[in-house]
Amino acid sequence: MAIPDRAPSDKAQSYDEAHCWQCGAIAATATGCDLLLVADPRFGLSGYGYLVKRGARQDEVRVRVPRCGRCRQRSGVSIAFVFTCAGLGAVAGRALPLPADWHASPPGGSAGLAIGLVAGFVAAMLALALYRHLAGIRAVTTYPPVVRLRREGWHFPYRPGD
Ligand SMILES: [Zn+2]
Repeated sequence: MAIPDRAPSDKAQSYDEAHCWQCGAIAATATGCDLLLVADPRFGLSGYGYLVKRGARQDEVRVRVPRCGRCRQRSGVSIAFVFTCAGLGAVAGRALPLPADWHASPPGGSAGLAIGLVAGFVAAMLALALYRHLAGIRAVTTYPPVVRLRREGWHFPYRPGD
């Protein structure tokens, strides 16, 4: 059951476990990216070839996206980049000339800090998306088996509103 079954439509978007999904280089087992998808157990969704871990609160399925060492490294750098931008945004946000009562609103912080944090985070995500697009690097979330599972009702954990 660990061998993914492939629908003809998936085959069209050529992919295999030997090649990095993100850049097409030879993938290494150790640098694959495990994505966890969850679903309401009441739906009893199929894992479409992936092993489903049934639970009382949620069903879980883990998809290993083939990836090369360089892309894994790039992903680590990306995370650091997003945190750095959010941090710089927060510092810049604190300096925003906001009304004095705004600064006192959330306990332990200021509104400017929160605005800067979010703005830095969003700017970093946009910059990364643009970079990936220009460099022809695919996001792990677009891996066909992941796309298929999501289409069937699986979703990433901790989605806002859950
Ligand atoms: Zn790669």
